[in-house]
Amino acid sequence: MIHPDTRPDPAEAAIPYRGKKPAQMLDDLVVPGALDIDESDERLWVPQAPDVSFRPLLLSVSQGYFVNILRVKRSGILSRHQHTGPVHATTLRGRWHYLEHSWWAEEGSYSFEPPGDIHTLEVPAGVDEMITLFHVTGAYIYVDPDGNPEGVEDVFSKLENARNHYEDVGLGADFVNSLIR
Ligand code: FE
Repeated sequence: MIHPDTRPDPAEAAIPYRGKKPAQMLDDLVVPGALDIDESDERLWVPQAPDVSFRPLLLSVSQGYFVNILRVKRSGILSRHQHTGPVHATTLRGRWHYLEHSWWAEEGSYSFEPPGDIHTLEVPAGVDEMITLFHVTGAYIYVDPDGNPEGVEDVFSKLENARNHYEDVGLGADFVNSLIR
């Protein structure tokens, strides 16, 4: 194996791959301006609860995960939940924490939530807007303080909510379909 930096013909490095694609390979997906929160079309934000909305970036029905930006315009408790899969969170604005943990998700921070953990999300007083990019694998199971299940949310419920909202606001089914992989 020749390392690319030591290839005898440097011009070859600039030739795009010209072979076949794997059969059945999914299309790639690009969401322009995904992080332009303040410039984004308000219709893209799917209402979830009063002052809480999400913008889906990718809804993976084939792998059972979703990537979305959560926007919370109030402080207080959001939910107590358990994850069945790993969660990756990049906090874009504001700060939040879980009552069960000592760490804080601060603007610009990345956090990993392990499958199985039960935790209660709070946006602290004084934060008027919390915005976090979440990559959520599997399901949220909403639970009571003893861990008894009270509700479930996953890529399929996110997809249904997004589809209904985007049809209501006139973006149409094709828009949500473009986010599905
Ligand atoms: Fe969580």
